[in-house]
Amino acid sequence: AHEIHLASRPQGWPTEDNFRAEVVDLPELADGQILVRNIVMSVDPYMRGRMNDVKSYVPPFQLDAPLDGGAVGEVVESKAEGFAVGDAVLHGKGWRDLAVVPAKGASKVDLDAAKASAYLSALGMTGTTAYAGLTDVASFKEGDVVFVSGAAGAVGSLVGQIAKALGASRVIGSAGSPAKVARLLELGFDAAFDYHDGPVAEQLRKAAPDGIDVYFDNVGGEHLEAAIGSMNKYGRIAMCGAIAQYNSTEPTPAPRNLALAIGKELTLKGFIVGSYAHLTEEFRTKMTQWLDSGAIEFDETVVDGLENAPSAFIGLMKGENTGKMVVTI
Ligand code: NDP
Repeated sequence: AHEIHLASRPQGWPTEDNFRAEVVDLPELADGQILVRNIVMSVDPYMRGRMNDVKSYVPPFQLDAPLDGGAVGEVVESKAEGFAVGDAVLHGKGWRDLAVVPAKGASKVDLDAAKASAYLSALGMTGTTAYAGLTDVASFKEGDVVFVSGAAGAVGSLVGQIAKALGASRVIGSAGSPAKVARLLELGFDAAFDYHDGPVAEQLRKAAPDGIDVYFDNVGGEHLEAAIGSMNKYGRIAMCGAIAQYNSTEPTPAPRNLALAIGKELTLKGFIVGSYAHLTEEFRTKMTQWLDSGAIEFDETVVDGLENAPSAFIGLMKGENTGKMVVTI
């Protein structure tokens, strides 16, 4: 099998040298295992944290071993009850073309109902993150003004569209290029701006003259500070990610205006999507309807070839994707 291994731990920004392609012999299947030929795999920002040797909510990747992550593939051999050759499965052994997967780590998906990559994005972890973060963590309610950063990315583009579908009065997004801003307006965002065009606080105030009630934070840093500044009384912030600091080698400053949270009686709440598994079914049902009706669209940036997975991952950190970044194998 072909696998991508972690060759060294990135210091700051990852480079291609941190990864190595390997060809390995796979062991015979044991009882309870399936052999999966991967079709498509996910690259995600959280993987950057796993490349550091620090304890977190997921263990670090091991050096000189394959990376892993979400993937969808076809069962080519099975020693597990309930899985037959030809079944399509979602599992956690990406970054390789052939994977030995314990059956308890795999779930069947229907490739007639949606394409394989959808289970890594709109119908998968990405979509659940957007839905749970908005509806539960940020306690979204009809009429709210919502701001989301990383808005043209996988999670962010769904957050904005779900907010519109659920009756937000105004949805504002920030992203990293004019093309992304144009795409957000096409997707139904009421306003969008490029955070390179000037201070985020100023651009946000213009886009949301009456303030915001919910901020869905994918970025941290200057964006979080700007959102706190524009927050209305009793505003809620879902702290989903802080990609602006994932490659920093120095500690980043806290939002300088955090004390505003007192007088405005704000709620800032961090979350991990894995803790919201109970919302998956509710979310899937709604998302399937939204996708079928055209209320929600999801974009993908597709990179072809397992050998290009490292550059896809690095590109993701640099904003080369619109919507979900996936790698076809
Ligand atoms: P995206 O598809 O949004 O891709 C990452 C995007 O981040 C890039 O496209 C880029 O877009 C943007 N970006 C990179 N650097 C910066 C920067 N310095 N400032 C602003 N934007 C930047 O990835 P995901 O949708 O998969 O993830 C979005 C966020 O959600 C991440 O922070 C991730 O860690 C988090 N997450 C958290 C989960 C949880 O359980 N808490 C689960 C899943 C994701 P641009 O061109 O706009 O800069």
